[in-house]
Amino acid sequence: MSTVAAKLVQPPLSVDAPYVAGVDIGGTFIKVGIVDRKANVIGRVEHSSKAERGFSHFVARIGEAIELAVQEQGLSLDDIAGIGVGYPGTVYRETGIVSGSPNIPGAHGSNFTQPLIDRFGKAVLVGNDASVAALGECLYGVGKQYGAKNLVLYTLGTGVGGGVVIDGQLVVGAHSQGAELGHMVIDPNGPQCGCGNFGCVESFCGTAGILRSAWSRLQSGRASLLWNFIKEFERPELTPKMISQAAEQGDAVALEVWAEVGYYLGLASMSAVNMLDPDVIVFTGQVTKAGAPLFDAIRRTVRARARLNPWPWENIVPGALGEDSGVIGAAAGVLAKLA
Ligand SMILES: [Zn+2]
Repeated sequence: MSTVAAKLVQPPLSVDAPYVAGVDIGGTFIKVGIVDRKANVIGRVEHSSKAERGFSHFVARIGEAIELAVQEQGLSLDDIAGIGVGYPGTVYRETGIVSGSPNIPGAHGSNFTQPLIDRFGKAVLVGNDASVAALGECLYGVGKQYGAKNLVLYTLGTGVGGGVVIDGQLVVGAHSQGAELGHMVIDPNGPQCGCGNFGCVESFCGTAGILRSAWSRLQSGRASLLWNFIKEFERPELTPKMISQAAEQGDAVALEVWAEVGYYLGLASMSAVNMLDPDVIVFTGQVTKAGAPLFDAIRRTVRARARLNPWPWENIVPGALGEDSGVIGAAAGVLAKLA
């Protein structure tokens, strides 16, 4: 379907308009931020995506959220230069067709971008959520702090996303599918990943991999503060947040889990160093709240294995944009074109 789809015709950006709409889409939510030309978020609207009601309903809800966010700031659509979207999957840039979208039912093969262009008459730039987060961090976050133009970013959550910026430009490859750093294989004999392959970074460092690491230690009968969490919630379910809380209190099992996850992320980072030699490597997402036990293990692994390249291992850092990273990243592609 994608090979025969018409190329998008993007309306020109409204270069004199003072704001950009940044749309951050997750599996269950739509967040719209009104972002000024310096990447400050002046207002936000958050909706549930209701993705289960079908793809066209989902796209219509995004349109409604954009309109509401504009109205809430006392603005009109004339004040919006263009719309940037961080999509949880892959959308072909040229056609707007969704090619990979595990969290949005019915999305595959549908046109995401064209209905939004039709609704608003504005340029709509769509990128993978982790890719646009990398551009946002490079232009307005960590990249600014380090004077960095070459940046690799991993998003840690249910899955592990990736983004690459080289010389200030996002790298997504020939078919808009690139920079899936979470699916780099780090152990060919490793567990099966959600993508179907075995031993991807995500299979060790996504939420399921992190919890498997914790459970295997608990099942061997180790004493741990994690047992208290399980009793407290009266269900045998852990979360990465609980493991972080236990690690903060010095729990040996929790600290081992972060050391192991950090080791695997360090292997992944080492390959990124050898392939791309970036200025900085950035980790974002809830799991980074694990803090020092995780980051120390990533840095230690890179430091020990930087055989070809004496890379500055201390340049492995958490994201700087915090809660607004999704909407700033989404807006970043439009802002960069306006600069
Ligand atoms: Zn995979």
